[in-house]
Amino acid sequence: LTESSDRAAVASMWRNQGTDLDDNISYFMKKKRRVWCRLPSGQWESGTIQSTSGEHALVSLSNGNVMKISSSELLPANPDILEGVDDLVQLSYLNEPSLFHNLQNRFSNDLIYTKAGPVLVAINPFKDVQIYGDEFVTAYRQKRLDSPHVYAVVDAAYDAMMKEEVNQSIIISGESGAGKTETAKIAMHYLAALSGGSSSIEHKMLQSNLILEAFGNAKTSRNGNSSRFSRVVQLANGERSYHVFYQLCAGAPSSLKERLNLRMASDYKYLSQSDCLAIEGVNEAQRFHILMEALDIVGISKEDQERIFATLAAILWLGNTSFQVIDNGNQVEVLVDEAVTNAAKLMGCSIQELKLSLCTNKNLAGKESATKRWTLQQAIDRRDALAKFIYARLFDWLVERINNSLHAAKCCVGKSINILDIYGFESFQKNSFEQMCINYANERLQQHFNRHLFKLEQEDYELDGIDWTKVDFEDNQECLDLFEKKSSGLLSVLDAESNLPKASDLTFANKLKQHLNLNSRFKGERGRAFSVRHYAGEVLYDTNGFLEKNKDSLHADFLQLLSACNNELLQIASKLLNDSEKPATTLSEISSSDFPRQSVSTKFKRLDSTKPHFIRCIKPNNKQLPGIYEADLVLEQLRCGGILEVVRIARSGHPIRMKHQEFARRYGFLLSKTNVARDPLSISIAILQQFGILPEMYQIGYTKVFLRMGQIEKLEHRRKQVL
Ligand code: ADP
Ligand code: MG
Repeated sequence: LTESSDRAAVASMWRNQGTDLDDNISYFMKKKRRVWCRLPSGQWESGTIQSTSGEHALVSLSNGNVMKISSSELLPANPDILEGVDDLVQLSYLNEPSLFHNLQNRFSNDLIYTKAGPVLVAINPFKDVQIYGDEFVTAYRQKRLDSPHVYAVVDAAYDAMMKEEVNQSIIISGESGAGKTETAKIAMHYLAALSGGSSSIEHKMLQSNLILEAFGNAKTSRNGNSSRFSRVVQLANGERSYHVFYQLCAGAPSSLKERLNLRMASDYKYLSQSDCLAIEGVNEAQRFHILMEALDIVGISKEDQERIFATLAAILWLGNTSFQVIDNGNQVEVLVDEAVTNAAKLMGCSIQELKLSLCTNKNLAGKESATKRWTLQQAIDRRDALAKFIYARLFDWLVERINNSLHAAKCCVGKSINILDIYGFESFQKNSFEQMCINYANERLQQHFNRHLFKLEQEDYELDGIDWTKVDFEDNQECLDLFEKKSSGLLSVLDAESNLPKASDLTFANKLKQHLNLNSRFKGERGRAFSVRHYAGEVLYDTNGFLEKNKDSLHADFLQLLSACNNELLQIASKLLNDSEKPATTLSEISSSDFPRQSVSTKFKRLDSTKPHFIRCIKPNNKQLPGIYEADLVLEQLRCGGILEVVRIARSGHPIRMKHQEFARRYGFLLSKTNVARDPLSISIAILQQFGILPEMYQIGYTKVFLRMGQIEKLEHRRKQVL
């Protein structure tokens, strides 16, 4: 794990031979340095320039071929000595192939963590890399290990929290299957260990995690244990609903089964529709017992547990509820069978109430006169919407309970470390409402990220009395405006359109084109489509289903039904929503409840007051297998995560900062005898002058020397020669 500091020193030496550092490719061609060549296939291959003529070079490629390549397809490569550096900031030449290659080099040596300046890049190994557990925790805690690791990030957050008394957040992003949730668990484990080993808080925290996984995770095609929040009613083949449903069906003791009229998973439409009931090697019944134990430990009473299970069973029975068309096809009615009977019983309402709620739009005042009946498809959609709604409320309730329980167990400090496991930017062939919400959230995250990065730099300069000019960075404010602007922003237009009786996805798309065409981030496309230029790339959205999904939150009638139910959990859960989220805002709860807008902005507000630490997870292949590193896939994620930008930003300032004492101690002995400097600050200045470090390459602060990239190496080089 430990990287040799000698190697780093030698490496830096190379990149600082005089002023040779020039990213200019013509210079590279002249010097016949190692280069990256983009082949016609789009892949990057390293090579050495043999000769040049005009804009072309004859390159001997590492695969043995010799090719004539245009200079536009060449990028500078880093010298061998820089292979696999543990912070990408150390690379002399920053370009995609160099970053990519460096990460690959480390990955193939099981070094899955690499720093990109202030960001930790984590590549999912899809195997046990044996760098976790108590010994490693202790080593990082005692600062005996400092190679990049989640532990190091959490350790820094913990120290900062204690020292600065500021709340911290660890923001973990990446696409599905990239390892976010595992990383969050690794982080929690470290925190738990810090707070005193097997203390009850650690135990509770890990048990909470287990519960949240059972209720919040499901098997998808991309991840056997994916954190999901929308999959109660509709599943694709090979995917499953939330683990807890299968666990309940398989593991409930017979008395509980009887009370809930519970059947096997295969008897429920919501579970059997996708032809995927089991996960290989998983014993659901056993998992159920572990879950019950966890609920005990977290302090959820037996009565509440029974309510949870009753609510789950109610959802399953709701899924089996069917409808019949009567009155010559003019009306739809619930077929009264065991499904609706059981669902109503478990929810604690009458069959009549449930039937009304499913088949009519009984308005809030309950006036029969205003009642309109649904079509068959509408009734089915309503049933599914109710099932999702109940599940979402159950989940909220559970989170609330767990938070309360952990809060009670908390010791003293009053400061917190938040761990955020958030979807990364998504761009597919077809992008819908969900992608838009995810990408909007990521846009907010990116702004947070930028601002923080620069703020941090600036603060450090200011504290040390250094005059500096701001480094430019790509601001995504315009993109945020596109979404957030009052009345003419995308979200406002969507809300307004959702409330118009005759509106459709097409009229919505047209309104967008009307309102937003002046925003350079927006482009109206043919028909119902539009595209947005996000910080991570342009995404084409199809508005099909936008209005429906946006409206799905407006279930005031569902709330009314639930608050009248005898199932106490449903009563309380409906109040939770009532109080905190006021269902009047349409987007406040997305159908899938993946990204309630309200909570996105609330969460970001809360985040703004914390000191963030960033971890970007990367999925090296889609097969979920170890040892496979797919170029296109990784490059795409590096791009979306803005990794190259981050490294650029980190390098553009004065990334090397050393206390005067430290600087003087390390290099002071190199000063000539005639030099009389005594105090560390004067010694620092004398060193810089004697070794001809150009004035634009450094700044002297009150307490530290600030050096531009690549300057310290000259001193290191000299030091090595003398020692
Ligand atoms: P995400 O939350 O980003 O969708 P997960 O955290 O669930 O992804 O990770 C998907 C799978 O990848 C995990 O179930 C695990 O098998 C594997 N994985 C992720 N991170 C690690 C790691 N650090 N070490 C070993 N395996 C990992
Ligand atoms: Mg996850």
